[in-house]
Amino acid sequence: MSHAPINLSRRQLFIHRKITDKPALPWIKEAQFTDLCTQCGACIKQCPTGIIRPSDGGFPRVDFEHGECTFCYQCAEACPEPLFLPKAEPAWHARAVIEASCLAKQNIDCRSCGDSCEPFAISFKLAVGAVAQPQINIAGCTGCGACVSVCPASAITIRNTLLGDANVTE
Ligand code: SF4
Ligand code: SF4
Ligand code: SF4
Repeated sequence: MSHAPINLSRRQLFIHRKITDKPALPWIKEAQFTDLCTQCGACIKQCPTGIIRPSDGGFPRVDFEHGECTFCYQCAEACPEPLFLPKAEPAWHARAVIEASCLAKQNIDCRSCGDSCEPFAISFKLAVGAVAQPQINIAGCTGCGACVSVCPASAITIRNTLLGDANVTE
């Protein structure tokens, strides 16, 4: 008997997780997003930092490899559909996560992410016998993504942090 169905299922789960545990757009109503978004591209044209890009499925998504979110709310104002929460609501519950590929975790001195963080949410803790290790103050992190593109090891991702959130289905 082939193991193909199990592999396919695991692959689909991986893909779904990868898509859903990262924020799509700030202030977006995730549960209605794919039903109501017409893929008109207005938010993409309006974003001053150019971080909103079409995803593989055609829906817009922020891509922090191109820059940061300044929380200007222009994407929400440009959208003709009732898809965005009021600006007074939190933009998202996304925060930066430093993965194992971080250079400091491999004892190579690097502080690029800390230099890029305007809210000073990244600090470096001295360690015995190792280079200083980055630590993220979750309470201070806005999920702006400014630390993502500056990381030479692509070790930082922005992830939704609310378990049980509609965004996280695994
Ligand atoms: S809030 Fe502004 S910077 Fe952030 S994704 Fe929307 S348009 Fe772009
Ligand atoms: S402006 Fe609104 S409807 Fe148009 S692509 Fe962006 S989120 Fe979708
Ligand atoms: S996402 Fe923004 S606020 Fe959070 S650690 Fe990175 S640069 Fe700092």
